[in-house]
Amino acid sequence: MNNAITKIGVFTSGGDAPGMNAAIRAVVRASIYYKKEVFGIMRGYEGMIDGDIVKLGARSVGNILQRGGTILKSARSQEFRAPEGRKKAFDQLKKHGIDALIAIGGDGSFAGLHVFFEEYHLPSVCIPGTIDNDIPGTDFTIGYDTATNTAVEAIDKIRDTALSHNRLFFVEVMGRNSGYIAINSGIAGGAGAIIIPEDHMTFEALYAILKPGEETAKKSNVVVVAEGSKIGGAIELARKVAERSSYFDIKVTILGHLQRGGSPTYFDRVLASKLGVAAVEGLLHGKQDVMVGVLDNKISYTPFETVRSGTHAINEEDLRIAKILSI
Ligand code: ATP
Repeated sequence: MNNAITKIGVFTSGGDAPGMNAAIRAVVRASIYYKKEVFGIMRGYEGMIDGDIVKLGARSVGNILQRGGTILKSARSQEFRAPEGRKKAFDQLKKHGIDALIAIGGDGSFAGLHVFFEEYHLPSVCIPGTIDNDIPGTDFTIGYDTATNTAVEAIDKIRDTALSHNRLFFVEVMGRNSGYIAINSGIAGGAGAIIIPEDHMTFEALYAILKPGEETAKKSNVVVVAEGSKIGGAIELARKVAERSSYFDIKVTILGHLQRGGSPTYFDRVLASKLGVAAVEGLLHGKQDVMVGVLDNKISYTPFETVRSGTHAINEEDLRIAKILSI
């Protein structure tokens, strides 16, 4: 046990994700369980620079487990990218006696903490919190399960209207450059086609899937498109199909930010709780400059360098299954 650590600072950074609050709660309660003081740093690196830092107790994180968003707020900070900004942040942490950090966020937030660690050597552990599931070193990121469930619920609703009006819908889901939300919401929502950046499907191949509808009088269908699609987003693909054929009555829905909010699923709450406790225990056992994750259902700590140089590839098997089921 690292008894040199006495005060742990926790913050959320980058895009918010459902389950971040459950992770904050777990970090706070685990810190107190191990008799450490814990401080919430507001608005990510912005609040660190401004000294917007509050002491947290076990009760200050009551009734947040089930809430979306983040009580610590999140922000993106230009100032922290410069050495002068990071110096200000370090001075504020020193003022509060904070001697270890836990960041909940995405790869950008981890990159920031890594630079900070190299300069100031504060033991730090990152917890992956992003709906995109695009971080290597963990099978799941906090928020991904909830966001995918939200997308599935939306696709189910869109399917009702697609069927009633014989319409072809293009539904665009989030995920940045990752197709995780798209492939799994597409499988769960019974999509006729799924377009993800990791696949090499061309527009011609997509059109070949839709075209038989003209012969079989199948007008209604749902195509799920990942926002990182390399052959165009939902609007562009819809336009291209409309240019080819006047047979389809085409509509587009972009789900956007509604995928980021809402109450976390049981899965995200449990994942966030486990990772929060493991982040504190990792720090107290001497881990530093690592990300805590879950691999094959076991807690694992991955050095930041490995996280940075890797990718979280889509399971090829999911892609194969999606293609079989969409005939
Ligand atoms: P999401 O995946 O949801 O976008 P993220 O954590 O990747 O979340 P970013 O906006 O990329 O979000 O990063 C959050 C913040 O981390 C940035 O606003 C910046 O303050 C800090 N940061 C990112 N990269 C660096 C870097 N190379 N050096 C210093 N700070 C950085």
